[in-house]
Formats: sequence, structure tokens, C-alpha cells
Amino acid sequence: MDKGKALHFLFVKSETKTPGGLAARPVLTSYYKSNHFKNRPFDAYNNYTSPTADIEAGSLTPRVTDPSVREAVAGILRADPELAALVRSECSKGDWAGIITRIWPSTKYLDVIVTGAMAQYIPTLKYYSGGLPMACTMYASSECYFGLNLRPMCDPSEVSYTLMPNMCYFEFLPMDSAAASGGDASQLVDLARVEVGREYELVITTYAGLNRYRVGDVLQVTGFHNSAPQFRFVRRKNVLLSIESDKTDEAELQRAVERASALLRPHGAAVVEYTSQAYTKSIPGHYVIYWELLAKGPAGGAAVGEGTLERCCLEMEEALNTVYRQSRVADGSIGPLEIRVVRPGTFEELMDYAISRGASINQYKVPRCVTFPPIIELLDSRVVSSHFSPALPHWTPGQRSDSD
Ligand code: AMP
Repeated sequence: MDKGKALHFLFVKSETKTPGGLAARPVLTSYYKSNHFKNRPFDAYNNYTSPTADIEAGSLTPRVTDPSVREAVAGILRADPELAALVRSECSKGDWAGIITRIWPSTKYLDVIVTGAMAQYIPTLKYYSGGLPMACTMYASSECYFGLNLRPMCDPSEVSYTLMPNMCYFEFLPMDSAAASGGDASQLVDLARVEVGREYELVITTYAGLNRYRVGDVLQVTGFHNSAPQFRFVRRKNVLLSIESDKTDEAELQRAVERASALLRPHGAAVVEYTSQAYTKSIPGHYVIYWELLAKGPAGGAAVGEGTLERCCLEMEEALNTVYRQSRVADGSIGPLEIRVVRPGTFEELMDYAISRGASINQYKVPRCVTFPPIIELLDSRVVSSHFSPALPHWTPGQRSDSD
């Protein structure tokens, strides 16, 4: 750390306004746009050199038009055609496996968050980095900073966060009672009284004024640092699909499928079963929804054409939350939603497969989201057609965003 350099990607997202006129934006956007960040005192560890400059010519890209920014970097730029040639040749090889260490051979580790929903990006990060260690250092939210990983170089599967008791007042709702009682305050447990092995939902009371606010995260106590409990991030309650800061739960996905499937009715078809996948193998990632269709009535479903299914994709997007639509429209960080139609009987095969692996036939429920590779392979091998949303859904900057 004392001699190193880091490449950080800092994402500033678009802002919205609340009905009362307050700016609503994610915490990091707020920080990077603040004077606190822009006029910070010199710090050798956080000495940023962006924006990008043309390495070959030693000049700033013409896309940067702000004169003060151009002036600030003009003095420190120099041409480095050799380095530019190396970058160009490595990037034009087509195969980007290990690109990070090919371009920056002394890279020691990746500073990332790959616990929880972001664990889906571990294979991609391994691919581009050639297997560099991944340090997950912190656990935080827009509402409050929660904790730190005191063993940052451990494997992502072993990460535990130590909550810092000065950040807010932490309380915990045992998961068994959270489900049974709907979250009765009398069940709340203090930070000092959590038990190793148990799962809890995190509840915070913050300096900014949130009172017993349910963050929506489920944590499991793994041990102690001195007497401070440590937690593994288990999952976000009720979140099925997430590509970026979007969080889509089961009820919302269900509503979106219902709204879109109404478009099939005039064609004598219906959605009999569905499931979904957050597809992140291409960039940007996108939602994939698997549909098994039932053809009813004289039209026999035969009339469901490409155009209708494309409209269904867009209709689902219109029904999803504002954060999803903002990422689609303003940020471009989520790609068009895709419907993959699977052949009749596929979901029965899925059930047979689950039962063959030990699921109980009485309790079997169609998973509304799939992550297990053999199940995804099974579904993909039964796909008869696939369709993408042909346009952007509606989103206006004036709308309040749920996650902000
Ligand atoms: P946001 O409110 O958009 O800032 O997102 C905060 C949420 O992101 C938290 O409540 C968690 O669900 C998730 N999150 C933040 N840090 C981590 C982490 N280290 N591991 C897993 N999930 C995290």
C-alpha cells in the first residue's frame, strides 16, 4: 500500500428529485460530486489522475472540454508511444482473459465487493484478472456505513464483516421471529447479545434520523473480534434479481410477468410457468426470463409472433422498479430484458431434476430465479426462441428512486 498504485472505477449515477424537491441519489454519487471530495486535502493514497489521456500522444482526449480540467492535467502529461503500443496490442488480441495482469503485470489484488448479490461477478473477475485475490473490505449502504472486513485478503466465500458500533445503533431481528411475527420490536436483540450461528435481519437507528429502519439484509453471526460480533452477509431479503443497484423481488417479478402475459391473451396463449436469471456473461448484464407457454383456444397460440413477444419484454420492463428503469435509460448499465421461450414440459423436467437431487415432491416450488449452472443448462437446452426488448422503458428524472 505504501508504494502501490490503484485503478479505481468511480461511478457517478444520475440524480432524481423527491416530490418535495430534495436531490435523491446514491451515497457515492453524492460524495464524488461534493466539495468535500473535489477539494480534499492531498492524500498520497487517494491521488486520482483521471480523466483519461491519450497515452500515445500525451494529450488529453478532446472529449474533455472543460478548460480547467484540461489545464490541470496538461502539465503532467507526456507521450509514451511504447506503452500505448503495448495496450493496443494486448487489447486487440480478441481474447481478454487475464487482461488486467497483461496490462498491469504488478497488480496485486482487486478491491471489490463480491459478497451477496455481487458474488455473481466472481467468475467474470477471475477471467479478466487471471485469478488475482479479491479483497472485500467493507459493508455499507446509503443510509449508514456498517462494517469492515478485518481479513481483507481472505477468500470471498469466507468474508465476515465486523460492525462498528459507533456508526449507528444496531439491532437484530432473529430470522425465525422476523418471519413468524412480521418483525415485532419486542423480538429485537442488541449487538452485544447476538448468538453465533444464528441469522438476523439488520435494523438500524441512525444519526440522520432513521428509527429502527429495516435494512433488508440477512446476516449470520460467524464469531467475534475481541467482543465485537462478526457477520457473514447471507442475502438480501426477498431480492431475486440484481444486475447493478436494482433490486427486484419475487412479488415485483410476478407483477411484471402478469402485466406482460396479458398481451398474449388475444393470441390464445398464456404463461404457464416462468423463472429468471440475472445474466452477467455479457456487458451490460440483463434480466433473462424463461417462459413456458400454453396455447389455448382456436388460435392455439400459433399467432404469438416475434413482435408480440418483443412487446412482452418491454411491458415487463415498464412494470419493473424505477431503479431498474433508471439503469436502463439514464445509465445504460442494464441491457434489454430477454424472454426465452422454452418448449412445453420443460418446467416438469426441472421439477424431476430437483426431485432427483433430493427435493421433496410435496414441498417443491418452481424457483423464480435460477443460479445453479446445471439448471440453467437444462433450461437453455430447451429454448425454442429468444426475444429482446426493442426499446427503452419510460423513466423520467423527476421520479423518486426507491433505493436512494
Ligand atoms: P445502497 O442502499 O444502494 O447503498 O445498497 C446497500 C446495500 O448493498 C446493503 O444493504 C446490502 O444489501 C448491499 N451491500 C453493501 N455492501 C455489501 C457487502 N459488502 N456485501 C454484500 N452486500 C452488500
